[in-house]
Amino acid sequence: MKLLLATNNKGKLRELRFILARLPLQLIAPAEIGLNLEVEEDGTTYAENASKKAVAFARASGLTCLADDSGLEVDALNGAPGLYSARYSSKPGATDKDRRIFLLQNLADKPQPWTARFRATVAVAGARGSVEWVEGICAGEIIPEERGAGGFGYDPIFFIPELNRTMAELSEETKNRLSHRARAVQAAKPILKRIFDL
Ligand code: IMP
Repeated sequence: MKLLLATNNKGKLRELRFILARLPLQLIAPAEIGLNLEVEEDGTTYAENASKKAVAFARASGLTCLADDSGLEVDALNGAPGLYSARYSSKPGATDKDRRIFLLQNLADKPQPWTARFRATVAVAGARGSVEWVEGICAGEIIPEERGAGGFGYDPIFFIPELNRTMAELSEETKNRLSHRARAVQAAKPILKRIFDL
């Protein structure tokens, strides 16, 4: 009943643990089993990248594995940064904050509102090489000033009009109920239930 969470991103790990907490599974991070695996995200879709990560970690560990690939799509930038959200920057060694500043620089001359969505694909790979995936979306808009201290990545500039809050202003409970990742993991629960016979 072990599920390996195939990510080294601390923000994602924390969220995945939260979202999956109610399932009777032992959630394991790669570091806990001494697994240090960098999978190149060279796919052309989120599904390809998530599947590649899930399969690589499942093969390396012999465990059922859940991976996500996610990104932010901004309409005024034709869907950028998209698949490149984690690497979106003009300088090497950039931080999340640098990426937020870079995004706002690229949007500066575009008319508001800057509609956008977070998209996540969650892939579940079995230890024998099978893989399935599902998707989740969360819609909002980019705002020009940072608000809130929660979450990670682009959360402080991702505003959800219906809640009148940025993603970084939401409680963990709320973000992990309605985020793209939460929705994708919810959609993946039937897959997990089938694999683990829950
Ligand atoms: P990847 O899935 O490892 O390729 O990384 C996706 C990137 O998209 C992250 O590094 C963040 O920059 C961004 N991202 C994905 N999900 C979120 C989120 O929930 N909040 C803020 N940024 C996110």
